[in-house]
Amino acid sequence: MSPLQNALTQLKKAAELVKLDAAVLEILKKPKKIHEFSIPVKMDSGETKVFDGYRVQWNDARGPFKGGIRFHPKTDLNEVEALSFWMTIKCAAVGIPYGGGKGGVTVDPKKLSKTELERLSRGYTQALKDYIGPERDIPAPDVYTTPQIMGWIMDEFSKIKGYNVPGVVTGKPLEIGGSAGRGTATAQGGFYILEEVAKKFHPMGDDPKGQKIKNKKLSVVIQGFGNAGANMADLCFHAGYKIIGISDSQTAIIDKSGKGFDSHTIAKMKEKKGVVDVCECKEIKCACKDHVHTTNEKLLETDCDILILAALENQITKKNVGRVKAKVILELANGPTAPEADEKLFKKNVLVVPDVLANAGGVTVSYFEWVQNLANYYWSEKEVFEKLKKIMVENFDAAWKIKEQNKTDLRTAVFALALGRLEKAIKARGWA
Ligand code: NAD
Repeated sequence: MSPLQNALTQLKKAAELVKLDAAVLEILKKPKKIHEFSIPVKMDSGETKVFDGYRVQWNDARGPFKGGIRFHPKTDLNEVEALSFWMTIKCAAVGIPYGGGKGGVTVDPKKLSKTELERLSRGYTQALKDYIGPERDIPAPDVYTTPQIMGWIMDEFSKIKGYNVPGVVTGKPLEIGGSAGRGTATAQGGFYILEEVAKKFHPMGDDPKGQKIKNKKLSVVIQGFGNAGANMADLCFHAGYKIIGISDSQTAIIDKSGKGFDSHTIAKMKEKKGVVDVCECKEIKCACKDHVHTTNEKLLETDCDILILAALENQITKKNVGRVKAKVILELANGPTAPEADEKLFKKNVLVVPDVLANAGGVTVSYFEWVQNLANYYWSEKEVFEKLKKIMVENFDAAWKIKEQNKTDLRTAVFALALGRLEKAIKARGWA
């Protein structure tokens, strides 16, 4: 199924659970506005290339549209629509005053020079100049978009307006209004949730109250080694988890020492932003003593306590779900588990911590960045993370209660929490 079909299947299931008002459901099933446009870019060679760009504004009942921009060769409208819908649920699930939106450009940014990337980012901003802004729609980074790209977008938008508008995007460099903590916020939020899961979900540890968990080194496999995955690896490693498998778009490696990757390996991968750099051979039959190379598919089937998905959609499907051995799946990526797989995992008592909660740390600190921009008053990283932890833990607890009361899966419970808030906002506005 496509990402959008997956998203709407999840919506239907949760809507049935909460007996969502039929008119509210109709509103939530469709985007409010879709922007589809082409972006001509003068390449360094002198030729002009035209790229397809999108911005989907799904729902703004609870506040301005909010969501990242993805630059990826496989990005298309269907994917951006799904991501935009999930942002609507996510912002409501953590109770921040935003609606949901998402953007994308079908492009392989690795094939562009820095100046071409800058022209593309500025072109994207020009195409959307009348539809984004601090009170309308606030983009942010996503796959293969960076703080530098947010800096160019903010600069272009400010030039169009004739004055500085830092609040038009989040995830900016610190020097121009970024927030302390935004760079690692997605992983940090996911980590707070993981620690809560360890207290509540006893197959993770030795005892139902989680008392002995600190003594047991839980094993972790991470798919995807970008902003979300690499920072999560760092946090888990330093908290004493044993990282036994990691992948990026090129390759995957699995520890064979039995001890997990050491601090040197983790630090080197984080610095180089990739897995392949740990050992330059990139071969499946590599001669290194402490790890073996494998495929991304095999990595997902590794025997481990926690599988962290931090790459792209539709990674666990009905095809491979039977071979997944993890006890907990934490979704830092958006939409990595298909609904048919979800059902099977629930029956096997595998806890799936859904994207719309697990990766909400990113948008929550984006919200803090926007608040700081509007107030022109900046907080320390300590303040940011204290506020983030409170939001993540409170909403995790609320969702967990719904899950237990209804004997349902955590994704449906988080959706139910979000739908309750969305329904109230939609009704308060008189839309339904
Ligand atoms: P990124 O661009 O920083 O990194 C993407 C990573 O995924 C890279 O390591 C890349 O090599 C890897 N990758 C790409 N294709 C892969 C494949 N087929 N198999 C394995 N790895 C692959 O992106 P990111 O910001 O870390 O985003 C990753 C996921 O997290 C996405 O689903 C994104 O929507 C989600 N997310 C990110 C944020 C954020 O703040 N960055 C917030 C919420 C959700």
